Amino acid sequence: MKAVRLVELGKPLKEENVEVPAIGASDVLIRVMACGICHSDAHYRAGISPIERLPLTLGHEVAGLVEQTGKEVTHVRRGDRVCIHYLVHCGSCEFCVRGLEQFCTTVQMIGKHRDGGYAEFIKVPGRSVFRLPDEIPFDVGAIMMCSSATALHALNKARLKTGESVAIFGFGGLGFSALQLARALGAGDIYVVELNQKKLAAVREFEAIPVDANEGDPAEQIKHATGDKGVDVSLELIGSAKTMHQAVRCLAPLGRAALVGLTAQSMSIAPYSEIINREAEVIGVSDHLAAELPSLIEMAMSGKLRFPSGIVRAVDLDAVQINSILDALEKTTDQIRTVIVPK
Ligand SMILES: [Zn+2]
Ligand SMILES: [Zn+2]
Repeated sequence: MKAVRLVELGKPLKEENVEVPAIGASDVLIRVMACGICHSDAHYRAGISPIERLPLTLGHEVAGLVEQTGKEVTHVRRGDRVCIHYLVHCGSCEFCVRGLEQFCTTVQMIGKHRDGGYAEFIKVPGRSVFRLPDEIPFDVGAIMMCSSATALHALNKARLKTGESVAIFGFGGLGFSALQLARALGAGDIYVVELNQKKLAAVREFEAIPVDANEGDPAEQIKHATGDKGVDVSLELIGSAKTMHQAVRCLAPLGRAALVGLTAQSMSIAPYSEIINREAEVIGVSDHLAAELPSLIEMAMSGKLRFPSGIVRAVDLDAVQINSILDALEKTTDQIRTVIVPK
């Protein structure tokens, strides 16, 4: 089969001919119908995020059709439409037993630790395979499995309750999903902090409250807009110490700041005024859980999570086209998502 692979760090991906993977008793072989090209794939290609073995087929946002199942797999069968949870976990370690598979002692991410979906076929364990309803197109099923799933996990970690106010820092792929999911979960006022005027206009179209960071400290703007109270939940999706601090400072008493964006910078917090006397919480968010995917799929099926036409574009399983999308991703973080559709 054809696969587009990372052969050398810092170099363009290469097209290779590889064997269709042989499956074990608990595995499923899936014919890839759509695989998202994610911003983190650009990091893997550049060598910014560590990759342990090469060559490696990238791609962790996958939807497709079941081609073959191992004899122990009973929940899906040949021809089923499916999407894939990108973490492959053991199912039996201390963390897996508690439903916290992102901490599995042998966890592997597809497209990072093992071959992913920039290929005609992918092999994954049955427990990572979820049915994709007919109402959800393959391209949406694929991109949902990364940014939307993580946005939902962030809202769950922040324990968002009906009627609570939310501030979202950053309106890229994560923020776009987070806004819709927060609303689906019953959020009250939703503020979205951005610098980009086009994205601020998009926030208005979603009937959320834009906060233009060009017009001064967003935390102060949010405090002002809430009558000095602040918001109950804030999500930092950008990955900068500055916006993380703003996400903490805009909190109301008992507020929860969920940090999702990645940065190696340090952040300083004033313990008394910013955390202690408001009993505020700062919560780390990493990936998402298999147990959260059924409700995510349900929200997409019922139209609560939507990807308007024009937000997803397609390319072929072709190294030149894929490399040029990865080049573009290194320069911008817009909401337009690209999926590979093998012919
Ligand atoms: Zn991704
Ligand atoms: Zn485990």
